[in-house]
Amino acid sequence: MESKYLQKFYDKTPAERITALHAAGLLNEEATAKLHSGLSLPQEIADNMIENQLSTYDLPYGVALNFLIDGKDYIVPMAIEEPSVIAAASAGAKIIAKAGGFRTTIQKRVMIGQVALKNILDSDAAEQLILSHRDEILEAANAAHPSIVKRGGGARRISVRYLAAVPDEGIPAFLVVHLHVETLEAMGANIINTMMEGVIPYLEHLTGGEALMGILTNYATDCLATAECRIPSSLLGRGSLSGDEVRDRLIEAYQFAYVDPYRAVTNNKGIMNGIDAIVLASGNDWRAISAGAHAYASRNGQYRSLTTWKKAENGDLLGSLTLPLPIGAVGGSINFHPAAKMTKEILGYRSASELESIIASVGLAQNFSAIKALVTEGIQKGHMGLHSRSLAISAGAVGKEIEQLSERLKGEKNMNLATAQTLLAQIRG
Ligand code: NDP
Repeated sequence: MESKYLQKFYDKTPAERITALHAAGLLNEEATAKLHSGLSLPQEIADNMIENQLSTYDLPYGVALNFLIDGKDYIVPMAIEEPSVIAAASAGAKIIAKAGGFRTTIQKRVMIGQVALKNILDSDAAEQLILSHRDEILEAANAAHPSIVKRGGGARRISVRYLAAVPDEGIPAFLVVHLHVETLEAMGANIINTMMEGVIPYLEHLTGGEALMGILTNYATDCLATAECRIPSSLLGRGSLSGDEVRDRLIEAYQFAYVDPYRAVTNNKGIMNGIDAIVLASGNDWRAISAGAHAYASRNGQYRSLTTWKKAENGDLLGSLTLPLPIGAVGGSINFHPAAKMTKEILGYRSASELESIIASVGLAQNFSAIKALVTEGIQKGHMGLHSRSLAISAGAVGKEIEQLSERLKGEKNMNLATAQTLLAQIRG
C-alpha cells in the first residue's frame, strides 16, 4: 500500500493520521467524522452490556499499516495498551508485503458444543444408542435454535467421547456428546449453548445418564485458520548480519520455542499481542480466542510455538501460523459497539472468514517482527524507545513535556521511572 498520504504516518498527530487515511481513500466522510469526534461507548449502551456498570475503560485504538493479504491491501485496527505492538506489526507486514504478502486458508467454520453425561452404567451401549439416534439429537438441537437453521446453518454432526475415570483422584467416567454446528457468520456461543441445553432432556432419556452440563467448547478445532508467508532472505539482512544469517537465526528461534515451553509461552504471548488487539477492536471475545489458541499450542502434549519457520529448498524463509479462530462478523457487541463498527468499516471485511484471514496474518506478522528483533539487535532497543512516552506520562509529564521527556529518556542508560522523574524535575527546572 504505497500512498504518499501515509508516509511518516507515525510522526503525525492522531487528527492528521485520520485526515491522511481519508486523503488516501481508506476512510469515507462518515467514518472520518466519527473518528475525529471519538469512538466512546455511550453510557446507556455500556449499562446494558454488563452488570453493576459504573463507567467505561478506554484503550488506545490505532491502525497497523502495510498488510497485503490474499492480494488485498488492509490497514488493521488494533485496540491495545502496550507500546510497540502496532509498530512491530506494521514493520513485519511491510517486509512480508514486499515478498508478495500473506496467503491464508480457512478450514470449515464449525463450532463444537458438549454435553457431559455421568452415571452411565454401560458406556459402550450408551455410545451406540447415541450414534444410532443421531438424527433425533440433531433435530432436537436445531429445534432449540430454529433461526440459525433458517439462515442455512445448524447442527450437522455428532461425535461421542468416553473419558475414563481417574480412581486415584476420585474422578468418575464421563460420556461426552459433541455437537458440530455451523453458526455461519456468528461466533455462536449463545446459539450453541441454547442447542446444548435443548438436547439434554433427550440425551438423559436415551441413555439413563445424568447431564452435568451442556456448553460450547472454546477449543474450536473445527474452525482453524492458517496464514503463511514466503520471504526471500535478501529482504532479511540486518546490521552486520546477512539475510541468510538472519533467516537461520529466525528458524533457530522457532526451534527453541518448539522444544521449550518457557520460551513458547512468551513466543505465543507475542503472537497474541496482535491477535487479541484486533479481536478486541473487532468486538469479538478475545478471552475465547486466547483460551483456544493456547490449548491448540499444547495439542501434541507439550506447549509449543503456534508458528513454524522453515527454510524452503531455494533458501527462502517460510512462515506459517495455524490456530482456532472462532470469531464472528455478527453477534455480541459487534454491531453496536462504536469501535467495533469502525473496525468493520476500516477493514471492509465481508465475512467472518475474511476477518479470520486478517487476524491470522496479524499474528504471523507480529511473531516475525518479534523474533527478528530478538535474534538481531534485541527487543529492548525498539521497545524501550516506544515505551519512553508511557514512562514520561507515568512520571507526570503533560503536554509538550511528554515528547521532551521521552526524547531525553531515549538517551539514558537506565530508562526507568526514577530517571524519568529526575529528568522531568530538570525540565521543569
Ligand atoms: P449472539 O448471541 O449475538 O448470536 C448471534 C446472532 O446473530 C444469531 O443468533 C443470529 O440471530 C444473528 N445473525 C444475523 N445474521 C447472521 C448470520 N449471517 N449468521 C449467523 N447469525 C446471524 O452471538 P453468538 O451466539 O455468536 O455468541 C457470541 C457472544 O457470546 C459473545 O459476546 C461472547 O462473548 C459470548 N459468550 C461466550 C462464551 C464462551 O466463549 N465460552 C460463553 C457465553 C457467551 P437470529 O437468532 O435472528 O438468527
